[in-house]
Amino acid sequence: MKLQGSNLLERKEIQKLLGKDLNFVWFPATLEKDYRFQYQNEAAHEFRYRGPIILLLYLFLSYGIYQLLPPEQVGLWLKLYSCVGIIVFVAWGFSWFEKMHQWFDWYATIGSTIAIAISFTIVNLVYDEQGSVLLHAAIMYAVVIVYGFVGLRFYVAILAGWLGGALGTLVSMFFSDEIAWTLLNRTYTFSSFLGMALAYVTDRHHRENYLQSCLLELHRIEMVQQTQQLEVMSRQDALTGIANRRYLDEMLEEEWYRAMRHQTPLSLMMIDIDYFKAYNDSLGHLAGDQCLIKIAHAITDIATRSGELVARYGGEEFVILLPMTTQQHAIRQAERLLRSIKNLTIPHPASEISQHVTLSIGVVSYVPQMNEDVNDFLYCADHALYKAKSRGRDGYVFAHLAPQSLSNTKAS
Ligand code: GH3
Ligand code: MG
Ligand code: MG
Repeated sequence: MKLQGSNLLERKEIQKLLGKDLNFVWFPATLEKDYRFQYQNEAAHEFRYRGPIILLLYLFLSYGIYQLLPPEQVGLWLKLYSCVGIIVFVAWGFSWFEKMHQWFDWYATIGSTIAIAISFTIVNLVYDEQGSVLLHAAIMYAVVIVYGFVGLRFYVAILAGWLGGALGTLVSMFFSDEIAWTLLNRTYTFSSFLGMALAYVTDRHHRENYLQSCLLELHRIEMVQQTQQLEVMSRQDALTGIANRRYLDEMLEEEWYRAMRHQTPLSLMMIDIDYFKAYNDSLGHLAGDQCLIKIAHAITDIATRSGELVARYGGEEFVILLPMTTQQHAIRQAERLLRSIKNLTIPHPASEISQHVTLSIGVVSYVPQMNEDVNDFLYCADHALYKAKSRGRDGYVFAHLAPQSLSNTKAS
């Protein structure tokens, strides 16, 4: 079951609750709500197994009382005490319906209150020297079971325990003029305090377990988040935030085989900033870093179709991977990129060809065939880039590859 507590509270708050605050066996409102939800579910499930045990004990006790009571008292006692059995049985029946779990506190509290009230009343109405011992045992049994075995939270159990007594007192006062307080104090009152201690320890222990589980759940969530973060970081270039070479290699291989299977064209652009060493030398390394970031963003803006990947290939080299992209579209994209960089007008005081930063691009488009190597494809793009450089930079070169040409030769 999902522990909402781990979403509701920070680790520090949970740890604080695990300290002294736990002595009050009460959580802050929102957490108490979640805890109650969890608790009721668990308690109702457990009652499926506790119910028959409670019923069995009830039957043993009833048999004993029946043996000891004088015949004239049996009728009234049986009428009253059988109600206790019916209450346990009904509550046990409810515990089998998942939808009733949210009402566990209610039906268990009402049932417990009435069971105690009946046991209390019986002591006063069916009073008999011989039978009184077992009748008192029956009330102690009811009280201890309610506090320690039904599965109510501490304060709810207190409510059921004392309300049952109060109700029993009222009914007894109505039907009989004498209430055996001395005996009742020794049994009902005594067992109530014993039961309260029992309920307190159980509730505190249960809440401690709940908070520990929340901490574990929190730890698990943090671990998952950290793993996801690490995964993202391992794919990302630290400076520009785009994909790194490692991730590009993975995706390139994946797309290469996908294109081979479906016989679709795979295109790739190898991009290099012109005279970048000179840029660094004239404006400084930090300005160089800023320039790399701007260029990376501009390239990312070009690759908008799903499946397209922009990666930093090396120092000032970038790659755009364009799956299912024809040569015409790849060329259009290269032209767009050159235009968009021109529009950026990043000043380049040391460039030999322009006043602004420019790019050289090698473009390649190919339908991979069996036994062809993705590295040859990459080599072709690199070679086209080299040509673009030697043709004066600030432009692109498209590597014309004939079908199945990678099987024998490298691009020319
Ligand atoms: P070409 O026009 O032929 O491409 O010349 P170039 O100067 O751009 O190429 P070259 O390979 O000689 O120099 C690349 C430079 O890129 C060298 C290096 O200082 C710079 N560089 C590589 N990585 C980074 C980086 O992360 N930040 C900065 N600021 N500079 C980098
Ligand atoms: Mg370079
Ligand atoms: Mg360069």
